[in-house]
Amino acid sequence: MQVAAHQESVRSIDADAVVIALPSDDTWPQPTVELNEASGGVIGRLVESGEFKPKVGETMLLYGLAGVSARVTCVVGVGSLEDRDAGVAFRAAAAAAKRLAGHQRHRVAYCWGPGWNGDLCENGIAGAFVGCHGQDIHRRERRLHPFETLLWENGDRLEEGRALGESLNFCRDLVNGAPSDINPEGFVEAVVPLASEAGIVTEIWDEQRLAEERCGALLAVARGSDAPPRLMKLQYRGDASAQRPAMTLVGKGVTFDSGGYSIKPSDGMKTMKCDMAGAATVVGTLLAIARWKLPLRVDGVVGLVENLVSGRAYKLGDVLHARNGTTIEVLNTDAEGRLVLADALDVAAADRPERLVDLATLTGACMVALGTDTAGLFANDDTWCDQIMRAAGRAGEPVWKMPMFDFYGEQLRSQVADLKNIGEGRWGGAIVAAKFLENFVADIPWVHIDIAGPSFLDRAKSWIDAGGTACLVRTLVETARDLALTA
Ligand SMILES: [Zn+2]
Repeated sequence: MQVAAHQESVRSIDADAVVIALPSDDTWPQPTVELNEASGGVIGRLVESGEFKPKVGETMLLYGLAGVSARVTCVVGVGSLEDRDAGVAFRAAAAAAKRLAGHQRHRVAYCWGPGWNGDLCENGIAGAFVGCHGQDIHRRERRLHPFETLLWENGDRLEEGRALGESLNFCRDLVNGAPSDINPEGFVEAVVPLASEAGIVTEIWDEQRLAEERCGALLAVARGSDAPPRLMKLQYRGDASAQRPAMTLVGKGVTFDSGGYSIKPSDGMKTMKCDMAGAATVVGTLLAIARWKLPLRVDGVVGLVENLVSGRAYKLGDVLHARNGTTIEVLNTDAEGRLVLADALDVAAADRPERLVDLATLTGACMVALGTDTAGLFANDDTWCDQIMRAAGRAGEPVWKMPMFDFYGEQLRSQVADLKNIGEGRWGGAIVAAKFLENFVADIPWVHIDIAGPSFLDRAKSWIDAGGTACLVRTLVETARDLALTA
């Protein structure tokens, strides 16, 4: 999809379709006023009749409006202009794109008037890329068609928008890929070419290296599968003088989770290709940061395994030796993500980054607590957590901070080892999991983000197809930009 700026009138621009913004306020942007007048008041009547409610992401298509040269007009709700932010730009632009992408279109012009530039332009264009791209990557003929050219009125951050949009879609493709394709090796093969093209250095640890590095927890989870595990380190050096990473992103990459001997029911396994969404988020974020050439050093570490059942699989009662020396009694083989992260976090911590973030589809308990749209944040450092929360606010991604009182950790006491890998009962399971991870981050400021809810949609939303969402990528790119500015 080509991206370009335009300054033309909504009435006469050479395009197959124009997109106009309809706010809930009384004052409309100039192109909306102009189109309404040219068409003899069609938009006004739509609103007065209650036929169209200008909520963010609501869309309506109008055909062959008088006085408008584009054949199709897409009206998209943008809510109150006072609340306009990057999240609104992203969702509204994505919804319009998704609506229009049902047919092949050559030129689509967004005519939203003044104010939709800077990070709003960036996120709007990224949204258009996401809206035009579905989960049907294996269909002979896809249902959504990206435009040949996307035009954005007074667009000033076009290439940043495209880079962000393409990084989001790559993250979604990784999640949406079939689990036998995107197994640990398949994940690495998909990522390495794009990473090196973006200037990211990658280092891949195979089984032998993982054994030499004493990653006993990660290796135990992987043992039940014929697909060998991998650990991938990614390094983006946007600041050549930095001695250590400004932040390191760590991702859970369980490319398929059967639950192991604590096996999941078939229904619970249907979407378990998405259990590597944390790893995909790390990759998507690093790609965007590198493509934007942000002036800071950011590293990534992803632990890639398949959790299956076989004669070699790890068992309940097994005691694992994690890389940092902690022994872990396994009492549930479906609590495997924290075992993979235990070693991945320790690998990341060994390079002494200034800050750590990990992303994981870690617990169903987090979805019970917060629902499917909100990510849970757990931290050992309030300043770092608040910085990410502010970035999430600017990006318009819902996150919520959870408590980390010490007593939650008492549930992880084992009779035979330093820790066991599950708590005592059902309550507070997302927090207990976070307390487990806290044992592996040394004293580095750290935030754990549980994305079990928002990383994968069972049903489409107006602005995005079902499947992988690439949630938190925009938040973490925004966090990196913030770090680069304040460094
Ligand atoms: Zn599991």
